[in-house]
Amino acid sequence: MILQRPIRKSFRNIAIAGISGRRFDIKIERGRFVSVRDAAAQAPASSASEPGTAAVFSHEELRLRTAAEEVDGTDLWISPGLIDLHTHMGWTDFDHADQAKRDSAEVEAMQADAFEATLRTGVTTVRDAGGLLPEAAKRLIRKYGHPLRVHNGSHMFGAADAQGLDYLKRKMDEVLASGADWIKIMATGGLGSPTEQVSDPILSDKEFAFLVRYAHEHGRRVFVHTWGGVTVDWAAEAGVESIEHGMFVTREQAERLAERNVAWVPTASIYRIAADPDGVLGLPPVIQERAMRAVEAHAHAVGYAKLAGVRLGFGTDYATPALHGRNLQEMDALALYGLSRAEIWHSATTGAAEILGRAHELGRIGEGLLADAALFAADPLAARSEEELRGSIVCVLTAAAADEWAGG
Ligand SMILES: [Zn+2]
Repeated sequence: MILQRPIRKSFRNIAIAGISGRRFDIKIERGRFVSVRDAAAQAPASSASEPGTAAVFSHEELRLRTAAEEVDGTDLWISPGLIDLHTHMGWTDFDHADQAKRDSAEVEAMQADAFEATLRTGVTTVRDAGGLLPEAAKRLIRKYGHPLRVHNGSHMFGAADAQGLDYLKRKMDEVLASGADWIKIMATGGLGSPTEQVSDPILSDKEFAFLVRYAHEHGRRVFVHTWGGVTVDWAAEAGVESIEHGMFVTREQAERLAERNVAWVPTASIYRIAADPDGVLGLPPVIQERAMRAVEAHAHAVGYAKLAGVRLGFGTDYATPALHGRNLQEMDALALYGLSRAEIWHSATTGAAEILGRAHELGRIGEGLLADAALFAADPLAARSEEELRGSIVCVLTAAAADEWAGG
């Protein structure tokens, strides 16, 4: 169930995900948290509402209960809406060329389904990593009514743009005019490149530095697709906001990223899915093999990031109907690579909002913040798998209503 911008809503005696041993009374008005206080009536310590015990109400009962204006929050957990820092909401196929074979009405309907599936799984904000223009996102939201908050990279600066600084300036002006609030740089290859060459830079060091400088001069933030190699050093040196993937990042590079306060969005699960011969992507063996090498390296790289204290962000890189809505699988991959459930939750809420530059309005349950939220029938940080966590979602609240959506 998705509740859009309730005029007035309150929760009594509800737990906030990640805060143990306390319960809260929370009031929402017109899409904002207006009051978040310690619960007036604390449940007795012996009651069934203690975190970790099974819910005494059925999922359906809880769903009905949360539809009311005043909700008894006993047996419920609220979390800020989750933030996926790396999606491709405009894509419908793993190989982008396959999208061109579909007619435009079919593509649009699939994109609308992706918006809905993403919201239903508790993700209320995404950073689109390329392929969806800001205008297209707004049109989809208005027409189909799924008010996913989309931050937008629109164009991916890559191989086709390695044409010198004059060309890049013209192209940047075009992208800035499109309303993109992020600039995406494809600094290395990916699954399409042989592993031996995947870390080779795609743009020159001068072109890379120009893009970052020009973006920052125009108040835009920069995220850099890199599997590893020298472009990680360029990214740290230039002070980009985040690097993406980074499976071949070294221990020293991780320390440098931490020093320079550059965040890192590993997108760990997509490579596990790509490497799986029985996985939903069904990729050719040569791609599976490359993905497997990425997976082996990723576990180490995420370990270096954790050790060095790099700010890690939650992102999936999901781009196909079988994956949109399964975003929480990324949590299981990050857990396998050594992050605690609390660290993972932070990377998808408060930490992600900081990376977006939106910590003043997103990523926490706090007075004055936007009331994007997900409600769970069990402690979400105690869930052992994506299936369990997804199954415990009772309701998703959005601060925005699709019919008055202005974007951003
Ligand atoms: Zn991507």
